[in-house]
Amino acid sequence: MRKALVCGAGGFIGSHLVKRLKSEGFWVRGVDLKSPEFAETQADDFVILDLRDPQVCQNVVDRHFEEVYQFAADMGGAGYVFVGDNDADIIHNSALINLNMLKTCQKKKVRRIFYSSSACVYPEYNQKDPDNPKTGEDSVYPAQPDSYYGWEKLFSEHLYLAFQRNYGLEVRIARYHNIFGPEGAWNDGREKAPAAICRKVAGVIDGGEIEIWGDGKQTRSFLYIDECLEGSLRLMRSNWTGPVNIGSDEMVSINQLVDMINGIAGKKLAIRHVNGPLGVRGRNSDNNLIYEKLGWKPTQPLIAGLRKTYTWIQEQVIKAAAKMTSAGGR
Ligand code: NAD
Repeated sequence: MRKALVCGAGGFIGSHLVKRLKSEGFWVRGVDLKSPEFAETQADDFVILDLRDPQVCQNVVDRHFEEVYQFAADMGGAGYVFVGDNDADIIHNSALINLNMLKTCQKKKVRRIFYSSSACVYPEYNQKDPDNPKTGEDSVYPAQPDSYYGWEKLFSEHLYLAFQRNYGLEVRIARYHNIFGPEGAWNDGREKAPAAICRKVAGVIDGGEIEIWGDGKQTRSFLYIDECLEGSLRLMRSNWTGPVNIGSDEMVSINQLVDMINGIAGKKLAIRHVNGPLGVRGRNSDNNLIYEKLGWKPTQPLIAGLRKTYTWIQEQVIKAAAKMTSAGGR
């Protein structure tokens, strides 16, 4: 039976990947600081451990794994990575995990490892025009990410490439662009724009008002989780190392995103623009390279993924409200 190791299997993308690998017949070990929050893990073996400890990494790679996925990172949405307060932790924690996992994989002769980098590696100066952001893979230099999260990702990309060059460990590097979907962070301060807006819309009655950070004219693209997994597995099983963008090229402004979610909810809500952490002014995934190398691009429009995500977040909002009511009644 083929075996896979998923580091960060308690997180959003990792927990979905575990399900996908199980559906393909893999034996899966998941490692994380925590269990998945919203559903039982489907991993055959799920261990709660800290990958900042080199001995832990050695212990979890105790057998032959055909596929190793490294998703573990100290990360979150704009409210976590762009506020400045978490920079030292973000860079220290994630770099340690990557350093330890690579050394372990080298020692244990792992053949191939997948690394989840981010669109946050791209320089701020190419993302000032909301209508025309630049994210071709080569445009990453001269480097000027707008967050320490992005700097760590860029450093780690090089770390992975150096282990490939010097030790023959095969690496596959994806630069993810805003992945979203059910069973992701939605109310703990680490949620991203689609989840935050779904939560706000679900929690307000028709005709009410929601707050949006900034003027809402900043642009982004968002990739549904199933598409992310498909692109990632194709990259992992290809002969192409990357780094390569895995994202959607359906760019929308945050105001347009709000309109789409209002439409799904069947509500008309006013927007109040408030100050908040924003990140770059515009970002979109340039999918030319992945299409050229893998013949793959996302297949579903943004609205399809938003419908599924809104339904799931609406359920969470209703459950949370019911819990508060029953706690208040006691
Ligand atoms: P997530 O925060 O849901 O998952 C990361 C997991 O890593 C968490 O469950 C966390 O507990 C775990 N972790 C953190 N420190 C650990 C440690 N010391 N030991 C063991 N586990 C630890 O994030 P996600 O959205 O699933 O993202 C997965 C990966 O993809 C991350 O590396 C992230 O930087 C990258 N990425 C994600 C997106 C996105 O839009 N979700 C975009 C770009 C890049």
